[in-house]
Amino acid sequence: MRSYILSETNWKTVKQTDIQVAVLPWGATEAHNYHLPYATDNILADRISAEAARIAYSRGGKVIVLPVVPFGVNTGQSDVKLDMNLNQGTQLIILKDLITVLDRQKIYKLVILNSHGGNDFKQIIRELNLQFPKMFISQCHWFKIPSTEYYFEDLGDHGGEIETSLMLYLAPEFVLPLSEAGDGKAAVFSIAALNEGWAWAERQWIKVTKDTGIGNPALATAEKGKVFFKLITEKIGTFLYEVANVNPNDLYKEKS
Ligand SMILES: [Zn+2]
Repeated sequence: MRSYILSETNWKTVKQTDIQVAVLPWGATEAHNYHLPYATDNILADRISAEAARIAYSRGGKVIVLPVVPFGVNTGQSDVKLDMNLNQGTQLIILKDLITVLDRQKIYKLVILNSHGGNDFKQIIRELNLQFPKMFISQCHWFKIPSTEYYFEDLGDHGGEIETSLMLYLAPEFVLPLSEAGDGKAAVFSIAALNEGWAWAERQWIKVTKDTGIGNPALATAEKGKVFFKLITEKIGTFLYEVANVNPNDLYKEKS
């Protein structure tokens, strides 16, 4: 029983525990090439949050991990069978309800640990900051932690080498043999600017990739997943520890 994981602990423990930061893992339910489970983002959100929280907790950070929200923004995948969608407007309502509880109970810090590329809580956080001035709300995306290029050959962003390596390390029982995976070959936009990152339009998944993957998982290994998991959980663990200990009224310092 880990007392920093709400799903595993109990009221006897919780009611006498000082908690500074709630961590909300947020995933998605969607196809990940042929070989990874629909819950890939949820499993990763859950495991990364738990290990990062363990690291923060072991250093004295008063954190608690909430259960994973298993649905994300999947508007672009509405033609992929059983890819589930939760609109951003719904995410705002969910977050507002959860933050109302935290705010009332004087747990004034929330970190949303996002595991799905279609989720982005930035504008929701801006809006909720106005409504909950005592709360310090932040988000982090484990898949945006830099330097993936040192660990992986193919940096594709969906069901590719990175996610497959993590899943082979963390939950191999849910991964089909790589011989059954597609190559994750994905088309790019015919308009140049949309491929350069400064112009954006939503990708229609079904027209971009045949196997739902973006990025080739062929070179994925559990060993790569283990090394990368350690890197990202140490970084996020340090982040959680710092959030737990910071005074929300004293968030800034002189630039050195
Ligand atoms: Zn994913």
